[in-house]
Amino acid sequence: MKIGIVSVQGAFIEHEKMLASLGAECVELRKKEDIERNEISAIVLPGGESTVQGKLLRELGMFGPIKRLIESGVPVLATCAGMILLAQHISGDGTVHFGTLPVTVRRNAYGRQLGSFVRKGNVSGIGEFEMAFIRAPFVEKTESRDVDVLSEVDGRIVAVRFKNQLALAFHPEIGEDTRIHELFLAMIEQSARRKAG
Ligand code: GLN
Repeated sequence: MKIGIVSVQGAFIEHEKMLASLGAECVELRKKEDIERNEISAIVLPGGESTVQGKLLRELGMFGPIKRLIESGVPVLATCAGMILLAQHISGDGTVHFGTLPVTVRRNAYGRQLGSFVRKGNVSGIGEFEMAFIRAPFVEKTESRDVDVLSEVDGRIVAVRFKNQLALAFHPEIGEDTRIHELFLAMIEQSARRKAG
């Protein structure tokens, strides 16, 4: 089992370190051959700059292969910019990247003054979690009944799951708490079991 960490820009190393500390095998996806040469059973879309990441992924020929993997049901952990890449709609913006997650997200949603902050919030199935928000988006609207809202902070949706996609507005890869990554590993195991029949 290999987890492909999209590594074209942003905070990918932190995810890799955390997943490796939990015993998972990771491979950095920097070019399309990295996807072709490895059997990727899960994907991490890290935080960073969604516009830059979307552009680089297209230029590097990685966009289509990653979209197909997501559509084929491979588990995905997306944080912050990653959540924006998955979203079907971006508020006030016609841009769509993968568009596999039926939600509308608002980018840089907390304004300049509140660009970055840490908050405690409750995550379904996990409990209280210290959440680092860095010029974060939030989910303005869910667009399918199958989107599970896992966390709301101050009435704003900051974590959702839709089938194989786990998307967070905050950065669980920062700090010591590995519970979100453990949840992701459990999703991967479940998906592998389902495949094995
Ligand atoms: N503001 C960034 C964007 O719009 C996301 C920030 C992050 O990933 N920490 O893509």
